[in-house]
Amino acid sequence: MQFNETEEQIALRKAVSDLGKRYGHEYTAPRAKAREPLSELWAETGRSGFIGLNLPEEYGGGGAGMYELSIVGEELNAAGCGLLMMVVSPAINGTIISRFGTPEQKQRWLPGLASGETIMAFGITEPDAGSNSHNITTTARRDGSDWLLTGRKYYVSGVDQAQAILIVARTEDARTGRLKPALFAFPTDTPGFEHTPIEMDVVMPDRQFMLYLDDVRLPADALIGSEDAALAQLFAGLNPERIMASAGSVGMGRYALDKAVTYANERIVWGGKPIGTHQGLAHPLAKAKVELELSKLMLQKAASLYDSGDDMRAGEAANMAKYAAAEASIACVDQAVQTHGGNGLASEYGLGNLLIGARVARIAPVSREMILNFVAQFSLGLPKSY
Ligand SMILES: Cc1cc2nc3c(=O)[nH]c(=O)nc-3n(C[C@H](O)[C@H](O)[C@H](O)COP(=O)(O)OP(=O)(O)OC[C@H]3O[C@@H](n4cnc5c(N)ncnc54)[C@H](O)[C@@H]3O)c2cc1C
Repeated sequence: MQFNETEEQIALRKAVSDLGKRYGHEYTAPRAKAREPLSELWAETGRSGFIGLNLPEEYGGGGAGMYELSIVGEELNAAGCGLLMMVVSPAINGTIISRFGTPEQKQRWLPGLASGETIMAFGITEPDAGSNSHNITTTARRDGSDWLLTGRKYYVSGVDQAQAILIVARTEDARTGRLKPALFAFPTDTPGFEHTPIEMDVVMPDRQFMLYLDDVRLPADALIGSEDAALAQLFAGLNPERIMASAGSVGMGRYALDKAVTYANERIVWGGKPIGTHQGLAHPLAKAKVELELSKLMLQKAASLYDSGDDMRAGEAANMAKYAAAEASIACVDQAVQTHGGNGLASEYGLGNLLIGARVARIAPVSREMILNFVAQFSLGLPKSY
C-alpha cells in the first residue's frame, strides 16, 4: 500500500491548484449566480492537458488514470472553481468509449473529449424511474440500419454546454422480447432531441435539463460497444463518476475548511483571543478535518483500485468514498458557515451557497440511500428490501 504520491502526482496537484487559484471563487460566484458555465476555466484546463488525463495518449489523452483525474477534480474544487462536467465528459463518457468503443468511435469522440473541445453530457435518470435505472423506458428501435430513440430524461447536467450526449436507452432483445440497456452517443443538434432547463435552487454554473427524445434518428455506429454487454459497460463508467464526485466533495470540503480556519484565526470577539481558541469551534473543525481526510483516503483507494483494473473492489470503494466524501464535505461547509457567524451567510464570504452545493452530492450522481443499500447487500450480505 502506497501512501506517498509520486513526484508527478505532487507536481500535477500543484499545477492544477495554481491554475484553480488564478480563477478561484471570485471567478465562479458571478457565473454561478447567472447560471453560466465556467467556459474560460474549462478551455484553459483542456489546453493544459488536465481534462483528458485518464484517456489514452494515442487519442490525445494524458495516458494516466482516474487517480490523476481525481487530483484535477479535487484541486479545482479546493480552489473554489470545480468543473462539474469533468465528472461526466472525460470520466464517465471518456471511460466508456475508450474501453468499449470501436476504433472508429474512439477516433471520432476521444480527441475532442480529451482536449475538452467536445463536452459530452450523460443522460440516464428518468422521471418515472429515478434511482431505479432498471426501470428506464427510453427505447431504441431499429429502422433499417438506423436506430430511433424515444423517451424522456431529467436532471441531466450541462446539455447547453455540450456538443454531444451519451444516452442510456433500452433495446428490445430479439430473442426474448425483454428490454436491455444500450448506450448511444450523438451530437446534441440531432433532429428530434430537445432540452429545457429545470429551475433549480442550487446556485451553480452548470444547469440541469429535461430531455425529450422523439424518434431521434441515429446511424448504426451511434451505439457504443456491444448491445449485449451494455450493463457491464455502463458500470465501468459509473465507478469513475463516483470517484470524480468524491474528489469534488473532498475539494469543496477543503475549500470550506480553509476559509473557516483563516477566519477562526483572525476573528476576535472575547478577551483578545481569536474565536478558533474556543474548543466549541475548534473541535467541530478538527472533527470535520478527520472525516474529510478519511474520505480522501477512501477516494484514493477507489482510484488506485480502478487504475489497477480491479473493477469489482473499485466499485465498492468508490461507493463508500462517494458516501463518505459527501457527508464530510457537508459537515465542513456547515461548520465553516457556523464559524463565520452572520458572515457565513453573506455573499462576500462565498459559503452560504455551498450549503446546498455540498448537499447535491448526497443526492447525485447516486443518493446516500442507494449507496447504503449497495453496502448493506454487497459488502454485508444483507437481504434486498426493494
Ligand atoms: C445537481 C444534479 C445534477 C444531476 N446530473 C445528472 C446528469 O448529468 N445525468 C443524469 O442522468 N442524472 C443527473 N442527476 C440525477 C440524479 O442522478 C438523481 O437525482 C438521483 O439519482 C436520484 O434520483 P431521483 O432524483 O429520481 O430520486 P428518487 O429515485 O425519486 O429518490 C427519492 C428519494 O428516495 C430514496 N430512495 C429511492 N429508492 C430507495 C430505496 N430502494 N431505498 C432507500 N431509499 C430510496 C432516494 O435515495 C431519495 O432520497 C442530477 C441530479 C442533480 C440534483
